[in-house]
This record gives sequence, C-alpha cells and structure tokens, in this order.
Amino acid sequence: MTPSDIAQHRNQVLARIQAAIEHAGRPAGSVALIAVSKKQPAEAIRAAHAAGQRAFGESYLQEALDKQALLVDLSDIEWHFIGRIQSNKTRQIAAHFDWVHGLADLGHARRLSEQRPASRPPLNVCLQVNLSGETSKGGVAPDAVGALLEPCRELPGLRVRGLMTLPAPSEDETEQRRPFRALRELRDRLATPDCPLEVLSMGMSDDMEAAILEGATQVRIGTAVFGVRSTD
Ligand SMILES: *Cc1c(COP(=O)(O)O)cnc(C)c1O
Repeated sequence: MTPSDIAQHRNQVLARIQAAIEHAGRPAGSVALIAVSKKQPAEAIRAAHAAGQRAFGESYLQEALDKQALLVDLSDIEWHFIGRIQSNKTRQIAAHFDWVHGLADLGHARRLSEQRPASRPPLNVCLQVNLSGETSKGGVAPDAVGALLEPCRELPGLRVRGLMTLPAPSEDETEQRRPFRALRELRDRLATPDCPLEVLSMGMSDDMEAAILEGATQVRIGTAVFGVRSTD
C-alpha cells in the first residue's frame, strides 16, 4: 500500500470507531486506535505516523526491534507489545515497549518489573483473559485473574491498566459481543478505586464495532489500516 492508501484506510478506521462510539452513546475520544504493524515494513509505520498515528502494536520481538531501529527519528511513537511473551524475551520487551497487552503469567510479570529500566516510567500492562475457552489463544481463565492481579499490582516496575482479550473469530455480532461483555463485567467486578482497570483492550479489524459497543477503550487494528499481511 502507498502512504496515501494507509492514510485513507486509517481515516476509514477512525470513522468506523467514531460511528461505533456514537452508536454506543459513549463520549468522543473514549476509544484509542492501536495500529497493529506486525509483518508490515517500517515504511508503513512511517506513513501511518505521518498521517497522525502514534500507537503501534507489534507481535514479534525481533521484527519490532529491527523496525524500531529504523524509526528512531520518530521519538513520539508509543510501542505496544501484543504478542506472546517468552521468558527469555522479557528484558528486551521491558526496555523497548511502553505497553504489554498479553500478560498472563506471574513469572513474566516479575521479570518485566525487575527488568524495566529505572530511567523509564513503569511498564503499562493489561492482563490477558481467555474467554472463549480456547487454550491456544493464551490468557488466564476468568476465575484466575484476581489471583494474578493481586501480586502484579505490587510490582514497582509495572502499572496494571486493565484487561485484554483475543477471542476466536466469529461472523455474528451477538457471538462477537459475548466475550467482550464478559471482559467488561469481569473488569467491573475486579476494579477498585486505586486499581480501576480503566483499559479494556479488545476488538480487531473484523469485530471492532462489537468491542466498542461493549466498552473497549483500545482497539488493536492491523489489516483494516495496513492491508493484508504477507505472512502471519
Ligand atoms: C494481529 C493482531 C491484531 C490485529 O488483527 P487484524 O485482524 O489484522 O486487525 C490484534 N491483536 C492481536 C493480539 C494480534 O495478534
């Protein structure tokens, strides 16, 4: 895609987000777009950045580091790690990202906290919840989130911002909304005044409307912004 294609697709996504916000009767600006740039070249990120995009999501650590090195001049990018976390990768994730969305393991949480450079603010994290019962998608079971949240809240290098989910795809909006609603209800049960879990990271290119209707505050959109990925 050309830079102008990317700018145009991004505008279409922003319009879809805006329409869903209005449909849901939610306040303007209550949903942030994370542009998922995995398997896209650094030039695609540069084009989206020129169009005004600042938050980018990456799933594969080495690929992300390679692109970050090419984009050091774009110092205001907010980098979100949305991939699967491996223990031997936590140091670089902690050093090179602003957010981590798929936290589902206390050992990983401890490492990320310990390895977060002291020069940087605490790493923003979302706990990943598995709501479609698919073990392959990662995340902790809903009834185990509280037990993960408690110790994570105490880790000085982390700031627990909310919950994330990645449900199995569905064509049907009622089906799509079910896990998103369940994530919101779980958040409402676990939120406390000093840990409000204000972020709900849910919704992708094909189900962002359903997610926004159920309260998403961050949607992670790849294909609808950048076009189809070469490989995945
Ligand atoms: C790839 C990916 C997305 C974006 O998916 P699209 O369907 O391309 O919008 C969102 N979240 C996660 C965790 C992903 O891995």
